[in-house]
Amino acid sequence: MNNQRQTKQKTIILDTIQSAGEPLTADQILSKARLVMPAMALTTVYRNLELLTTQRVITRLIYPDGITRYKQAEAPHHHQLICLDCARKVNISQCPLECLARQIESETGFEIVSHQLDLYGYCDRCKSKHSN
Ligand SMILES: [Zn+2]
Ligand SMILES: [Zn+2]
Repeated sequence: MNNQRQTKQKTIILDTIQSAGEPLTADQILSKARLVMPAMALTTVYRNLELLTTQRVITRLIYPDGITRYKQAEAPHHHQLICLDCARKVNISQCPLECLARQIESETGFEIVSHQLDLYGYCDRCKSKHSN
């Protein structure tokens, strides 16, 4: 199998997930992808789902019915430090809540799709003005 064909299969699978509007099972992805590429095999779908999940392009969801579904991953987001004095904003490089969100999902059965967190304080330039 050549690279070009592999890339095409991956693109079709990703397009299927992105255009669905709701999380899809591997079987649903296969039947939709076969409309575009009739020779698509279920093993190909699973291999690409694994790959796209590892690359964080898609997210794997385990539903209460035990069937795994896939959806497009959330857009990359940033949390900010906001200075109360000069209003300077600095992006935090990591998301400290992803791991917590997964834990809360397993405890509550919620599917968490987004969250917000901003931290307020004084930046390195302003903090001396506010220390005693
Ligand atoms: Zn400041
Ligand atoms: Zn976050």
